Amino acid sequence: MSAEIIDGKQIAGRVRITVARDVEAYSETFSGATPGLATILVGDDPGSAVYVAGKQKACKEVGMTGFNYPLPADTSREEVVALIERLNADAAVNGILLQLPVPAPLDGVELTGMIDADKDVDGLTAVSAGRLALGIQGLRPCTPQGVMTLLESVGTELEGAEAVVIGRSNLFGKPMAQLLLEANATVTTCHSRTRDLAAVCRRADVLIAAVGRPRMVKGDWVKPGAVVVDVGMNRTDDGLAGDVDFDAVKEVARAITPVPGGVGPMTIAFLLRNTLQAARMARSRG
Ligand code: NAP
Repeated sequence: MSAEIIDGKQIAGRVRITVARDVEAYSETFSGATPGLATILVGDDPGSAVYVAGKQKACKEVGMTGFNYPLPADTSREEVVALIERLNADAAVNGILLQLPVPAPLDGVELTGMIDADKDVDGLTAVSAGRLALGIQGLRPCTPQGVMTLLESVGTELEGAEAVVIGRSNLFGKPMAQLLLEANATVTTCHSRTRDLAAVCRRADVLIAAVGRPRMVKGDWVKPGAVVVDVGMNRTDDGLAGDVDFDAVKEVARAITPVPGGVGPMTIAFLLRNTLQAARMARSRG
């Protein structure tokens, strides 16, 4: 029997509607104030510009205030640092996002690290990663949070389940593994040096692929009845492809995300949710 297709577009749409409703309630409570998201884009990479424009548009659609800071590619480190410090101190700004990658010689990791962890809506600073590792309240990375919601949407039992994450990036693989662990799954993180990857994957009740290699996960890597989430976004000659061989795996899995239309739409939805959470946290600190 063919797997249930997890409709990320529809689920992300529902998250956005909830955020919009919550933003309205926030505004009513706080005399018309709205959560604010600042985006910083250094340079003129067209792909990054499209991403930032999408984030700003989504922000306005849910009633938040967007602040956009496009900077020329030759902006100095000191200028970016000064902007981040100014936004850190600005009470109207609840979330700050530095679009990555930044052009050389700027260091995206160093600059991201300067964002106040309470405004770190991408959840990428060392403080946010530490809070996640310790189970302390904080802002979690958007895409892994989105994957948790997709898993929930198909009633995935995580407690005691074998979960395998392929990929150990700071952006996705590591925080994904932490969230699954927090949900009491037994988690294995795989990477380029993992021995017999296929055998490890076959143990998984929940298999999450975030590698960046088109259709790497084959049908016979998947345990019958597993839930498979494909985070990969690979541009190929025949269009966008995930890390999972969708046609083969959908015949084995119980549920699977497509590419596009699976994980992708969840990221912006959770960026909006994080911005609202950051605004609420700021209010509760007074
Ligand atoms: P990344 O930083 O390049 O990490 C890739 C990971 O895959 C690394 O941990 C690497 O292992 C591992 N890997 C590479 N080749 C492998 C192999 N043959 N077998 C097993 N593991 C292998 O990538 P990322 O940022 O996590 O992103 C991964 C994919 O997800 C990309 O396609 C990206 O576009 C996509 N993505 C999508 C979204 C979204 O939809 N919103 C968000 C984030 C990422 P080593 O650590 O050993 O090198």
